[in-house]
Amino acid sequence: MSNTPESTSKQQHPDALDAIIIGAGFAGLYSVHNLRDKLGLRVKAFEGGGDVGGTWYWNRYPGARCDIESHHYSYSFSEELQQEWSWSERFPAQPEILRYLNHVADRFDLRKDIQLNTRIISAQFDEKSCQWVVETDDGCTHRARFFISGAGVLSTPSMPNIKGLDSFAGETYLTAHWPEEKVDFSGKRVGVIGTGASGIQVITEIAKEAGHLTVFQRTPNYAAPIRNRPMDAEIERQIKENYAQIREDSRNSFLGIPYPGTLPSAMEVSAEKRRERYEEAYAAGGFQLFAGTFADLITNQESNDTAAEFLREKIRERVNDPVTAEMLTPKTHAYATKRPPLETGYYETYNRDNVTLVDVLDTPIEEVTAQGIRVGDTMHELDVIVFATGFDAMTGPLLSINPKSEQVSLTEHWADGPRTHLGLTVHGLPNFFTITGPQSPAVLYNMPLAIEDHIDWLSDCIAYMGENGYTRVEATAEAEKNWGELTAEFAKPTLFDKTDSWYMGANIPGKPRVFLVFVSGAQEYRRICAEEVAQGYPGFKLN
Ligand SMILES: Cc1cc2nc3c(=O)[nH]c(=O)nc-3n(C[C@H](O)[C@H](O)[C@H](O)COP(=O)(O)OP(=O)(O)OC[C@H]3O[C@@H](n4cnc5c(N)ncnc54)[C@H](O)[C@@H]3O)c2cc1C
Repeated sequence: MSNTPESTSKQQHPDALDAIIIGAGFAGLYSVHNLRDKLGLRVKAFEGGGDVGGTWYWNRYPGARCDIESHHYSYSFSEELQQEWSWSERFPAQPEILRYLNHVADRFDLRKDIQLNTRIISAQFDEKSCQWVVETDDGCTHRARFFISGAGVLSTPSMPNIKGLDSFAGETYLTAHWPEEKVDFSGKRVGVIGTGASGIQVITEIAKEAGHLTVFQRTPNYAAPIRNRPMDAEIERQIKENYAQIREDSRNSFLGIPYPGTLPSAMEVSAEKRRERYEEAYAAGGFQLFAGTFADLITNQESNDTAAEFLREKIRERVNDPVTAEMLTPKTHAYATKRPPLETGYYETYNRDNVTLVDVLDTPIEEVTAQGIRVGDTMHELDVIVFATGFDAMTGPLLSINPKSEQVSLTEHWADGPRTHLGLTVHGLPNFFTITGPQSPAVLYNMPLAIEDHIDWLSDCIAYMGENGYTRVEATAEAEKNWGELTAEFAKPTLFDKTDSWYMGANIPGKPRVFLVFVSGAQEYRRICAEEVAQGYPGFKLN
């Protein structure tokens, strides 16, 4: 390894690694492969969970499924992998994605450089040795030149602060940390708190099995059909023949999923034409309605209203009881300003005799007791409570580690919201990279591709450092300031900040209310990142 940063180090600790990686999800796995097998670095990933898979290891709840088509929601870095792996469904369920990630770990021999059941609890940059000193919860300390976060965007679950939570005498489950063994709901009185994307999936499945299901809903959502189906052999053949073009089109689309034919504005077509587009998208499934109809749904309130009203009509058509239908109909936020959930039979679930919907916005949950959940004066007696209460998104996993240098501690640096350059680096924290970090497209970009783009970028940066004799890379204060202004400017014309969502950090008490995502689309983001490289990294200090 003659041209890597290690060879130019003067004070390398004898046991030091080249890179320490957080996590073994999509990001951690590809980081190990890329840095080890392409750059020849000595790397180690630490994963808090008992196996690889990240999101798909933890979120094993009934109904857990990806909402991006399988051939898009997968790695593109290896043509052999793309050709040999077959997806059984249009939208794969959690067990299949977990099998896929295990296959990737085995196929590329990644496990030997991953330490499972080990959480990173702190990280400090040591100026003298130019190394990160990383502490793990098994009491060990590790050193590496580079510290790379694949800690995930939705990996720190959020639990509501409800009086009496610990007093419940029945079983409790969190969708985001679901047990491996099957949970038996048959004949039981089950309560689900939360109706976001995971809530919608788990409610639909539990209702089929429970004696009675009570859903506690704060904010109704605009869910649209996913239209899942088994993978068709001919479609699979066409996909495999055209993977290169598919990936190219994906990376040049807004959301990382190519939807040709998106029109500029819902306001520029007749009401009939608009209705036709919405009906087609609703019938096609997936994110077609959000990303494949009109480009101005998240920037133009009038356009957004037309999509929102279309979905409200669908809810009223599908739910028999008008009072329940009204409760399920979102009225206070614009469509897609919360992540739009996808469903199969969610609304029909409320037509079942064994399902009750309880509004907890106007009358919040008072307390949890040994018997169940009290809302106002009504006691809902339960055997099981399922929490589908979301995540401390994007910043949560990084702030819990709180990486520090002599100049900067991340919790202080981000006290008023994240500050980054490219959503990938932080001023004052040298040689630290945040894969799909805040202020990158992350959750508004098909995530396996977003992850690959970031790892390819940081890997090229590390190679460049080696070739040019640099050992330290750090975003400049000016670049960080400019990036913050640019991401805020891009977010300004959108409707996102009108809604209290996890995109805005608004689901976590005390979290700064700022938009956490780069919103100008994958194509624009990739152009900016490529320009940074082409111009010789002007936003960075290299030495
Ligand atoms: C239910 C659900 C459905 C989703 N569906 C989609 C979808 O359809 N399309 C899409 O694009 N995205 C989806 N996502 C987002 C999903 O998180 C990403 O697609 C992707 O899996 C992220 O991979 P990752 O490796 O970056 O992070 P993760 O998969 O979250 O992995 C991060 C890993 O890091 C570990 N970790 C974190 N902190 C530490 C620490 N301090 N020490 C040690 N280990 C640590 C965690 O245990 C975790 O295993 C979904 C998320 C959820 C929760």
